[in-house]
Formats: sequence, C-alpha cells, structure tokens
Amino acid sequence: MSHREISRNATRAVRVGDRTIGAGNPILVQSMCATHTTDLEATCRQIDALSAAGAGIVRLAVDSRKDAEAAIRITDQVQANICIDLQENWRLAETLAPHVDKIRYNPGHLHHHEKKVPWKEKVQRIADWAMDSDIALRVGVNCGSVDPLQKEKWPADDAISPLVASALEHSEFLDSIGFERYVVSLKDSDPNTVIEANRRFAEQRPEVPVHLGVTEAGLPPDGIIKTRVAFEQLISKGIGDTLRVSLTLPNDEKHQEITEGQKIIDDVFAGRVRSVVHYASKGPNIISCPSCSRVENGDFVKLAQQVKHLSKEYQEHSLTIAVMGCRVNGPGETDDADLGLWCAPSFVNLKRGEESLGAYPYDEILEKLKQEIESLIQSRPTTP
Ligand code: SF4
Repeated sequence: MSHREISRNATRAVRVGDRTIGAGNPILVQSMCATHTTDLEATCRQIDALSAAGAGIVRLAVDSRKDAEAAIRITDQVQANICIDLQENWRLAETLAPHVDKIRYNPGHLHHHEKKVPWKEKVQRIADWAMDSDIALRVGVNCGSVDPLQKEKWPADDAISPLVASALEHSEFLDSIGFERYVVSLKDSDPNTVIEANRRFAEQRPEVPVHLGVTEAGLPPDGIIKTRVAFEQLISKGIGDTLRVSLTLPNDEKHQEITEGQKIIDDVFAGRVRSVVHYASKGPNIISCPSCSRVENGDFVKLAQQVKHLSKEYQEHSLTIAVMGCRVNGPGETDDADLGLWCAPSFVNLKRGEESLGAYPYDEILEKLKQEIESLIQSRPTTP
C-alpha cells in the first residue's frame, strides 16, 4: 500500500499554535505530561523531551487554580504548542485560554461542577473564551466518564452508542454556535470499541478532524500492539488527523509515546500493516493508564509492571485487570474490568467489577490481587 492509496477524510483545518490538524496535513503525533503540573522544572523538562521526539502538541492536566497558575508559568518557558486537559473545573478555561493553544474538555465531566448550569451554557462559555483567545478545542469523549445523560439513553451493554452520541451532540452544538475550530476524540481501552466508535462518528461527520487514541493501552509492548490494531484499521480507512499512543511508562521514557505513534503512522502509509486482527483476547488483558500529573503515588508504574508480571501465571484465562493511577478516573475506568486497582497516595483500592473489595497498602496489594484472581477463576463455570 502506498501513500497515494489512502484516501483521507476531507476534514476541516484546525490550527493549534503553529501546527494545523486536518485538511490533509500529516497526522500530528501528540502526548501528555505525566509530571505534576505544579512541578515546573520536571514538567518543562518533559515537554522539551516530548518536543525533541517530535510532539506537535503537549497536553497538561489542570485540575485546580494552583495547576492553572503553574501551567501559565510553564507556557512562558517552553516553545511547544500546549493543550490544557480540563477535568470538572471547567471555569479554569477562562484563565488559561489566553496562554495556551488548545483546551480539551470532556463532555462527561461537565456534569460534576455547578450541576444546575446546563452543559450547553458551559460549552458556550468555553467556546467563547477559546474564540476570544484564538485557540482550538477538543471534545474528548472517554469510555470511563461518558456523559451520564447519554448513558441513560442506551442499554447498559452498549458501550459504543453513548460515546458516539455524545461526540455528535457536542459537535452539533459547537457548530450551531458558530465554533468550528475543534477536533473530536472517542477513546476506549478496547481497540475494537475505538475502531467502531470512530468509524461511526467519521461516517456521520467526515469533515470533523479526529484525534485517535486507545485509552489506558498499558505497558509496552502490549499497549503498543493494542493501539496499533486500532490505528492501522482507522488510518488505512482515512480516519485520523492527530493521535496519541497512551502508554504506561516511567517519566524519563515518556517520549516513546511519540516515537511509537510516528512509527505506526509511517508503517501504515508504507503498507507495513499486519493482517486485520479482531482483538478478541485470549489470556490476560492488562489495562493501565498512561499516568499523568494526577498520579498520587510514584509507585504506580512499578505496580502496573508487577501486575503484568503476575498475569503471566494465568495465560490460560481470559481476565481483564485494570490498573489506574488516581481517583479522578480510577473508580470509573475500572468498572468494566474483571478486577480493578486504582491508586491513592498510600494505599491501592481493589475492585471486582463495580464492587469495592477494600483498600490495601502497596506492599500487600499483589498478594490480595492474586487471591482474587484465583477466586475469580474458580467461580467461573468452565475454563475459558
Ligand atoms: S487514571 Fe488518573 S493518573 Fe491515570 S491518566 Fe487518568 S487521570 Fe491520569
């Protein structure tokens, strides 16, 4: 397959700082800092490392006023195009918009703060601030924090429709208020869901630039393979204008997200694709978040590696174990796993599906997890 044979969707041009996403531009590879945003030195160093590896945009998590103040100081010290990742505190967009190049908001998180303010009013304000500051937006829809109003409308076992409906709803609303400088992402930890959700969205809105990502893909090499499965199938169909490979990596190796992302793009355009694989996993599937400044204990990456190592003892069993770095997304994004762990500062919360099994110190959690794996396997009627 040569470059000419991929017919890319004719998406709108969305300028982000000195780069343009969409409109036939090369697919832009981006990443997110995992350092604490308030740690200026470490965050600037990571931004520089990501930029040196080729990141076109670097995202920073901003959850509080302190983070916002730090982010503003960071933007004075680095050259990169900076995107801010908002969580519940949507009003921080007003403070940040004049200093950054793009803001990502999550439709699901708009329902947490100021519940009486309708989401449309919040998005209108965010778009106004973005317009006043001449910056772009991303509507970032995520499996672990889907808009609760959309979730109610669909059967509980349908993971894809609420993601797509939420992305379409926000796209339509932004268009209706005359704001077109946005990209959309529909992320899940299951590559098949990512493929199907993005395919459905792009079918209905082929002109909207798409940011591709498999969230909580996990540790290399499995995390890269999972991501590659989704990206190969979408990019080869012309879907995708920017992307991130979300990997669980120590801070000084975070630049691998960029090099791996670029490698996948180059391979797809050069025809070095694997045969179409349906990602139906036999054996353990370890999902772990890529970590970000919200990680509350630095041992998170080590724990994810230990869980992966432990899972090798269970190669004959289809088990999904999710390991998340913090309480912001940890509780929600572990719900769909057989067993979930989410990290707090001095203990790790353990879950079986949506049920909480308690909190355990870091040096006891693996033993407890092992017991739960054994008990889960025994409770299954037949060996998968
Ligand atoms: S789970 Fe928490 S630490 Fe991990 S990437 Fe998501 S927000 Fe960051």
